[in-house]
Amino acid sequence: MKKIAIIGSTGSIGRQALEVIGAHRDKLKVVALAAGKNSLDELAQQINVFAPDIVSVPNGQAAGDLRALLNNTKIKLDILVGEEGLEAVATHSESNLLLTAIVGFAGVKPTLAAIKKGKTIALANKETLVAAGSIIMSLVKEKGTKIIPVDSEHSAIHQCLSGYAISDIRHLWLTGSGGPFRTWNQKQIDNATVKDALQHPNWSMGKKITVDSATLMNKGLEIIEARWLFDFDPRKIKVVIQPQQILHSAVEFCDGSIIGQFGLPDMKLPIHYALFYPHRAEFADGPRLNLCELNSLTFETPDYDRFPCLKIAQEVAKEDSTAACVLNSANEIIVEAFLQERIRFKDIPVSLMRVLDKHNRVASPDLEDILEADLWARDEAAAILKAMV
Ligand code: NAD
Ligand code: MG
Repeated sequence: MKKIAIIGSTGSIGRQALEVIGAHRDKLKVVALAAGKNSLDELAQQINVFAPDIVSVPNGQAAGDLRALLNNTKIKLDILVGEEGLEAVATHSESNLLLTAIVGFAGVKPTLAAIKKGKTIALANKETLVAAGSIIMSLVKEKGTKIIPVDSEHSAIHQCLSGYAISDIRHLWLTGSGGPFRTWNQKQIDNATVKDALQHPNWSMGKKITVDSATLMNKGLEIIEARWLFDFDPRKIKVVIQPQQILHSAVEFCDGSIIGQFGLPDMKLPIHYALFYPHRAEFADGPRLNLCELNSLTFETPDYDRFPCLKIAQEVAKEDSTAACVLNSANEIIVEAFLQERIRFKDIPVSLMRVLDKHNRVASPDLEDILEADLWARDEAAAILKAMV
C-alpha cells in the first residue's frame, strides 16, 4: 500500500489526485492533507471520504472553522496550523510519498523537509524547483530519494528517458498549447482581460498557472524546472507549440531519433503515472487516445515578441543564481495584481523586467539566499506595481 500525503489537496491537482486515489483504494491510501484557507468545506469533505491521520490549515481561525465543519462527524484527527502544520503533513511518519500540489514558493520549505526525511516527491509544484532547484536536487541526491514529475511535460520526458543516459540526449522538447492568446495579435493581447486570460483552450487549472499559460511564463518556468529535474543544459531545452496538446513533450537523442509521449490532455494521466511509479496501473477513468481518430497534429515556433515572458524566463534559465527565484516570486505578485485587475496584461512582462533589472544576483545560492531573494522580489514587485498604477 502506498501511503500518500498531499499539500494543496483542494486545488485542481489535489482534487484530481484524490479522484485517482479514490479509484485505487486497494493500492493507494491518504494519510495527511493540507490546504489553504479558502477551501475548508472541500477539505472537510475530503476528510470525510479519505480519513487522513492529520490535516493542516493556514491558521487557528481556519482550524476552528474546520473543527466546526467536522463537528457532526465521528472523525478523529489532528488539525495542525501554519508553516509547522504544512511541514508536519509533508513529513508525516506514515507516508512514503508526498504530492506537492500547493501553488507557489510556499512549496519550498515543506518539500525540503520531506526530502530530508527521505520521502519520494510527486512534484506538481514547479515553483519549488524554479526557485530552489539546485538546493532541492542536491538534497535529493544526498538522501537517495526521488522526484517524480507531475507536470505533464516533465512526466512525458521522464517516461521517454526511461533507460537512456542523459549524455545521449541532444535536446529536450517541451510542448505547450500556446495558451488562449496563441492566435491573437499584439493589440488584442495588450487589451486582454482577466476573463480572457482565464479561458484556457485545453486545461482547467488554478488561476495562477492559467495566467502563466496565457503569458507563456508557464513554459519559461518549465524550462527551469526541466533544467534541474533532468540535470540538463538549459540552452538545449527547446519549446514548441503543439495546440492539440496530444504530444506532451519529447526527447531528441544524439542519433537524431525523437521519442515523444502521447495522451489526451488530462492531468489525471501524469498524476496516475507519478502515484504508481515505478509501476503502471490500469487507467479506468474516461476516454483514451485513439490514434485513428487523431486527424492532425500541428507544431509552431513560439512567438517571443507577442509573449516576452517566455524570452525573459529562457534567459534567466541559463543562470544558476537567485534570478530564477526572483523571477518566480515577482511573477506571483504581478499575476495576483493582474487577477485583481490592478494592472493590465501587458504590464506583466514590463514589471517583471523592472524587478529583474534591479536584482543583485547571488550565484550558486544557498537556502538563506533564496529566502532573502524571495522576500526582496515580493517587496520590489509590490513597489514597482504601486508606482505603475
Ligand atoms: P490551485 O490554485 O488550484 O490549488 C492550490 C492548492 O494549494 C489549493 O488546495 C490551496 O488551498 C493550496 N494552498 C495555497 N496556498 C497554500 C498555503 N500557503 N498553505 C497550504 N495550502 C495552500 O493550483 P493548481 O492548478 O492545482 O496548481 C498547483 C501546482 O501544480 C502549481 O504549482 C502549478 O504550477 C502546478 N501544476 C498544475 C497543473 C494543473 O493542471 N492545474 C498542471 C501542471 C502543474
Ligand atoms: Mg506543464
